[in-house]
Amino acid sequence: MSVLLIINWRISMNRGKQHMEEQALLKHCNKDVLSYLKTDETGDDHIYSGRDTPLRHDAFDISDGEKIEKIAYHFQEIMTTLGLDLNNESLSGTPLRVAKMYVKELFSGLDPNTKPKITLFENEYNYKQMLVEKDIKFFSSCEHHFVPIYGKAHVAYVSSGKIIGLSKLNRIVQHFAKRPQVQERLTEQIAYEMQEALSTDDVAVVIDARHMCVSSRGIKDTDSSTITSFYGGKFSETDFRNEFLKYLTI
Ligand SMILES: [Zn+2]
Repeated sequence: MSVLLIINWRISMNRGKQHMEEQALLKHCNKDVLSYLKTDETGDDHIYSGRDTPLRHDAFDISDGEKIEKIAYHFQEIMTTLGLDLNNESLSGTPLRVAKMYVKELFSGLDPNTKPKITLFENEYNYKQMLVEKDIKFFSSCEHHFVPIYGKAHVAYVSSGKIIGLSKLNRIVQHFAKRPQVQERLTEQIAYEMQEALSTDDVAVVIDARHMCVSSRGIKDTDSSTITSFYGGKFSETDFRNEFLKYLTI
């Protein structure tokens, strides 16, 4: 049997198995609901699915108010399904509170309108070295478990003639952190935004973060952190990159 045939055979076997599992589930689930569900095929592995956040084409067809209303309804369903009594004074406000928090805070960076407006200034000092902004603290959310990712981003660039207000670098980090994320994508989204805003390839981003899905559940490793990096333009040269990394240890 050729390799291609074996692969096709395996795919059809897997599809057959998946189909049987779906049929079994259908007996218990509403079909519309099921169409949104996928088996947890990747387990605890965090798969990076590309630089752009996967958004539906109708992501912004409804207002924030409508989103809050819908999420509150569904979160109330989750709580009720868990067996919680929403008549309890302490719990009754939770669905709306969570919905507002999702739309207005934790995931507000999904909305392109919340992207920080970047104003650039002339590089009057003719500063030609790298500029490093380090220890930018951020909170984000793991898109596989919807629990916090938190840590520090360190970013750097070399001016191509214009410079950016320092707080804008912080704001770029915070904007992309306020999405369901994987750390690899967060790193690249910050880097590409800086490259575009500053019209230069010479951009570096290093993120050191802790994932609550690793520390509070699953493997329950409370000590490990995850480091991701992006080195564009001059930062791909060893000496230049090492100079940047040296500043992170000061
Ligand atoms: Zn996770």
